[in-house]
Amino acid sequence: MDRREFLKSSVAAAGMVAGVSAIASRADAQEAPAPAEKKPAVLKISSQESRVPGKTLREKVEKLQSWGAVGVEITGASKVPDRVGEIKDAVKGTDVVVSAVCAGYFQLIDPDEEKRKAGAQRLKDLCGPAGEIGSTGIIIVPAFNNHPQLPHKEARKVLVDLLGEIGEVARKAGTRLMLEPLNRGEAYFLRQLADAASICRDVNNPGAAMMGDFYHMCKEETSDCGAFLSAGKYLHHIHLASRTRKLPGQDERSFVDGFRGLKMIGYQDFCSLECSVKGKADVEIPKSFRLLEKQWKEATV
Ligand code: MG
Repeated sequence: MDRREFLKSSVAAAGMVAGVSAIASRADAQEAPAPAEKKPAVLKISSQESRVPGKTLREKVEKLQSWGAVGVEITGASKVPDRVGEIKDAVKGTDVVVSAVCAGYFQLIDPDEEKRKAGAQRLKDLCGPAGEIGSTGIIIVPAFNNHPQLPHKEARKVLVDLLGEIGEVARKAGTRLMLEPLNRGEAYFLRQLADAASICRDVNNPGAAMMGDFYHMCKEETSDCGAFLSAGKYLHHIHLASRTRKLPGQDERSFVDGFRGLKMIGYQDFCSLECSVKGKADVEIPKSFRLLEKQWKEATV
């Protein structure tokens, strides 16, 4: 075949492909169901329990409610199984629910298969108690920089396989796993929301989801709004902190662009404080909540 014949046959083939895809897209258009009515996004403020002053969890929950929050995030995952009664009693009869369990590291991409299996089992064992306290999810980090870990390509494959298996246990327990991308100084393996979302897409189980943390995003993302759009339906939790990891409003970090992204995807889950406080917490935390509400209003789409 000379060059002219080759070009002619290529053009003909391209025409056929275009024709076929035009037919396919018309068929798709005919068969596509009407898009589901997307609920407007909501700002549901939460805080990690350790951030709020108070002698008991109940006292902290009551304080959060009086400040307008609707979620409390539980820390110290290993103690959760023994705290089920305490946590359920603490939120009983209030407007506050458990927004998440911040669990952390489970050796899921460790080079040692036995350690991966043991970590996966610990995480599976946590799913029941997390579901029982009504937690929307369990926050996990595949590995921090100081942990032994498989080379990246291998680690991603191992992680996708394990998340499918553990995610199914989480789903059945009424909760979900939530991968947290961190900044490169803490966890090079998983840094951007889009990357975490692509792992969830490959796992393809509603029990495996992800989250975003405004503090880490400040270092790793080029656009808060873009990051949340890429995360889309896989995004189920947010950590709130300023650029210097203080309360929102205690430095120049704005949340408006990110909130715009959350509104675009119809975000329905919690935004939870994970930060330190400059000044008196009882005064500064409610002030920060009012700033967040103001910036949520400013985020027009
Ligand atoms: Mg965080």
